[in-house]
Amino acid sequence: MKANHNYDKLEGSYLFSKIAQKVRDHQNLHPEAKIIRMGIGDVTMPLCDAVISAMHNAVSEMGDIRTFRGYGPEQGYSFLQMAIHDYYAQRKIDLDEKEIFISDGAKSDLGNILDLMDLDNRVLVPDPVYPVYVDTNVMAGRAIEFMNATEENGFLPQPDPSVQADVIYLCSPNNPTGAVFTRDQLKQWVDYAREKGALILFDAAYEAFIRDPQLPRSIYEIPGAKECAIEFCSFSKTAGFTGVRCGYTIVPRTLNADGADLNRMWTRRQTTKFNGVSYISQRAAEAVFQPEGMRQVKANIDYYLGNAAVMMEALDTLKIPYVGGANSPYLWLKCPNQMDSWSFFDLLLKEANLVVTPGAGFGKNGEGFCRLTAFNTRENTIEAMERIKRIL
Ligand code: PLP
Repeated sequence: MKANHNYDKLEGSYLFSKIAQKVRDHQNLHPEAKIIRMGIGDVTMPLCDAVISAMHNAVSEMGDIRTFRGYGPEQGYSFLQMAIHDYYAQRKIDLDEKEIFISDGAKSDLGNILDLMDLDNRVLVPDPVYPVYVDTNVMAGRAIEFMNATEENGFLPQPDPSVQADVIYLCSPNNPTGAVFTRDQLKQWVDYAREKGALILFDAAYEAFIRDPQLPRSIYEIPGAKECAIEFCSFSKTAGFTGVRCGYTIVPRTLNADGADLNRMWTRRQTTKFNGVSYISQRAAEAVFQPEGMRQVKANIDYYLGNAAVMMEALDTLKIPYVGGANSPYLWLKCPNQMDSWSFFDLLLKEANLVVTPGAGFGKNGEGFCRLTAFNTRENTIEAMERIKRIL
């Protein structure tokens, strides 16, 4: 057997293990220290009651010979596709049921979508970036190019008409920066992609955090996007499904690339390599879209956004520049006094018992920045900001 040596080209995922090691060393030196983690990338609130009740019902159905379900449709159950259809219809986005594919989360689909693409594509990825976009392409042996997300462009790169891209990754609200594309900015990308015949892979995993009605929550709010974009979404951050596993991907039927029908190809890919998401998870996801479920998941997101507001207020007081926080669980702050990411990380850990995520771990443009997340408790978030104020 010959191994896929593209794996040798992957950069080590040292970021989180290096953070964990530094935190362990610090805790060993100071066993009494109450460390607060402001770098948590996972949700912390439990599933809401509407979801739990739907899961209990689904479990009971699975235990009764009259309602037991075995393999379901690979693309997902119609009841969940219809619930997603209606969710988009509220925003005047018309989706066909066959354009909605249920999956076990956005991460799998973001990796699997590359099955549809030739190796010889020019792929643009923002820097800093959610590492999955980079690593999945490297594993496949595909070269990628970075586009700079910097302070100057508000961490939202815009298209360069002189570049002929074939595939473009966009994530809004962004992980790690928390920046959100405006309608006009996203329109620039849609127009560019249509002109160049490029495909946009749009990651909307954090759409539910957008509260400003002027900001687009789906790329399909932009006219023409159904001709050039695939959208990935997830219940992970919307409804706390990081451990339940359910997401969805929209592949429009109007998407034609290089003479190929991407919707047909993705259907074929999923029916061949995937056997669907558990019935229990899909019933749980359906409950998210019902009025009571919507109300309850919104309350959880409001709580996280309340934490983000606490952090924004503290950073404003300290006059530390940042983006994100208002429509996102992430805040991306500029390290004070020209410190690099790891120096600021070390300072916060040593002087304030606080853990953040160094921006340098997300790409070269992340150097000099740090990511804070809103997924801690309100009490810890307030305490963390008090500590930052005390040391700066
Ligand atoms: N996309 C982004 C930008 C994310 O930050 C994450 C999770 O952290 C995912 C996708 C993956 O989500 P899922 O849990 O649905 O696989």
